[in-house]
Amino acid sequence: MHNKTWWLGLTMVAVLAAGCGGGGPSESGGGVASAEKFRWKMVTTWPKNYPGLGTAPETFAHLVERMSGGRLTVRVYGAGQLVPAFEVFDAVSQGTAEMGHGAAYYWKGKIPAAPFFTAVPFGLNAQEMNGWLHHGGGLELWREAYAPFNLIPFAGGSTGVQMAGWFNREIRSVADLQGLKMRIPGLGGEVIAKLGAQAVTIPGSELYTAMQTNVIDATEWVGPYNDLAFGFHQVAKYYYYPGWHEPGAMLEFIVNKQAFERLPADLQAIVEAAARAVNQDMLDEYTARNPDALRELVEKHGVEVRELPRDVIDALRAATDEVLAEIAAADPLAKRVYDSQRAFKERVMEYHRISEEAMYRARRP
Ligand code: CA
Repeated sequence: MHNKTWWLGLTMVAVLAAGCGGGGPSESGGGVASAEKFRWKMVTTWPKNYPGLGTAPETFAHLVERMSGGRLTVRVYGAGQLVPAFEVFDAVSQGTAEMGHGAAYYWKGKIPAAPFFTAVPFGLNAQEMNGWLHHGGGLELWREAYAPFNLIPFAGGSTGVQMAGWFNREIRSVADLQGLKMRIPGLGGEVIAKLGAQAVTIPGSELYTAMQTNVIDATEWVGPYNDLAFGFHQVAKYYYYPGWHEPGAMLEFIVNKQAFERLPADLQAIVEAAARAVNQDMLDEYTARNPDALRELVEKHGVEVRELPRDVIDALRAATDEVLAEIAAADPLAKRVYDSQRAFKERVMEYHRISEEAMYRARRP
């Protein structure tokens, strides 16, 4: 549950946004908000109310309803309730639902640049991704990438650094990746494929069974808070870190363009402000919950936490450079996104070396 101060703060943001934004009184009928009510549906790629990922769209819906005084309501559907997880993009593109919540890298088959808006192996962390999107030109590129599909994307929360995943095979060297069948979507999957593994994409809700029945040897999902909820410790032996493949997985809200344009300016501002608030809130929640969940996995369930060997990490990083170069070479928009993100990463890494990284080292006794 969220505390009251947080809600109040958000409501004030909405009031300010509605009052100051866009065209002013003339556009909103002499300053009086339209009484027209809008009823939206939001389809998601997560199980209904799934911790963090699935509760974020619910928080968004609650916020929007309160901020708009009930003029805009959003009904949230879990994966499979209205459309299957991996049909969320098409459903919102076609207007079956006005909104969706998921992750851009699920749509890499349609948009080669899409994974750059979720996570790039060895790429930006959550803090840096937010900086690139909101103050470094990233969001403009994301909007450009989704425009042909009639969709407007918004940052939809970040999990922070993920875990490398759950393995039933020990990873002692690069050779242990040979023939490994692993669920790992996005660019991470392409990277391990370069090293001889077989990458598959399976929705979260099917992963436990896939591991239990040995359909896959390994799976990444998110991090301790979410992984504990799915019970992967019951079906996997080793829990590896770091999450090289998703250093800060950014989720997305997608909005059908016509549906958004039908909203008056104040409700549009409310959608934007609520998305931005939920985006930050998700990271806050993961930051607070992951440490306790990891402790429970280790102390209560005896999970073996292991670090990927340095030579495996080095091989993954080299393979990542190849994968990124190939994607950029094959698609002009992907190249522009890659160039923008890489330039941002170089600058931010240089500064974070003497700020975030230095402080992490300094505060450890
Ligand atoms: Ca993941």
